[in-house]
Amino acid sequence: MIARALLRWYDRSKRDLPWRRDPSAYRTLVSEFMLQQTVVATVEPYFARFVARFPDVASLAAASDDEVTALWSGLGYYARARNLRRAAAAIVAEHGGAIPASEAALRTLPGIGPYTAAAVAAIAFDARAFALDGNTMRVLARLTGERRPVDVPATRAALHARGLAEVPRRRAGDFNQALMELGALVCTPRSPRCEICPLAGGCRARAEGRAASLPRKRPRAERPIVRVVCACITDGARVLVVKRPRGLLAGTWALPEAVDRGAGTRPAVARRLAEATGVSVAGVSYRGAVRHVFTHRDVTAELFRVEVAASGPVAAADRRWIAPGGLAALGVSSFARKTVALGVGRWKT
Ligand code: SF4
Repeated sequence: MIARALLRWYDRSKRDLPWRRDPSAYRTLVSEFMLQQTVVATVEPYFARFVARFPDVASLAAASDDEVTALWSGLGYYARARNLRRAAAAIVAEHGGAIPASEAALRTLPGIGPYTAAAVAAIAFDARAFALDGNTMRVLARLTGERRPVDVPATRAALHARGLAEVPRRRAGDFNQALMELGALVCTPRSPRCEICPLAGGCRARAEGRAASLPRKRPRAERPIVRVVCACITDGARVLVVKRPRGLLAGTWALPEAVDRGAGTRPAVARRLAEATGVSVAGVSYRGAVRHVFTHRDVTAELFRVEVAASGPVAAADRRWIAPGGLAALGVSSFARKTVALGVGRWKT
């Protein structure tokens, strides 16, 4: 059993994180949504701004998707923002505003999968649950000397069962946080610091000299490269942005874009993108390329500045003109910020 040594280490070494101060089920829920796929240092300032604007479930449930996405701008994985707001609405509508305490009930809420349900149940309600994430999986794979790839369901299930068996009757939430913390601070992906690890005595990977080569993963497929043409449509004072209807960045605002079908077609594509919004085009000029690395793909955007003769009305729920500085009030991705910056040059975005 690892709980005793692990919790003793945690009590001495845990970081002072915003969601650990003044803890509540709501703050745990928000932090766990933000921490999905994202490191602590990135999340901290977003968390502080988010809970200052939406201090409880009721205020978040009453917000619009746009308000929530705006506060999420730059954090990535924007479906999380919309799902978090929907989860708050479901908590108000179906649970009288009280966040449910059981893993099973949490799983019924939008955007809450096995990891988040277990983390919230354990951390906020001290339920005997185990949250298997990248950190806890790595620590367990090393402790047990797991040789099978950890990105196959059977291995994950075995590691989850092992983790659950280790959760103590008391301090289940601290146990989960301690194992996550150990993975973040000591049992790190590339250079595990076995010499200061509280679990070193019972660790198989360490005993066998295989710590840095575990966990194993299946070979990765190459990340696809996606090429698009972007149109920075401007009347000289403002830029036209559209709301993305689908995909990873759905709900965020960006420049209009279309699939890039080759150099010869790009200016015409940029012109068509502009005309589709109802403006009258005065000129099209190439501004350069923007590259952005997403988790599952690399995107290269060829960017064209499209001057409009007169910025006619573009009234629609999914498109609007913005003035310099206007991006800050909208939900925009880092990728969109880069393209606008290249398109308008001197603007502070
Ligand atoms: Fe990780 Fe090393 Fe600790 Fe094993 S001894 S859990 S490999 S840090």
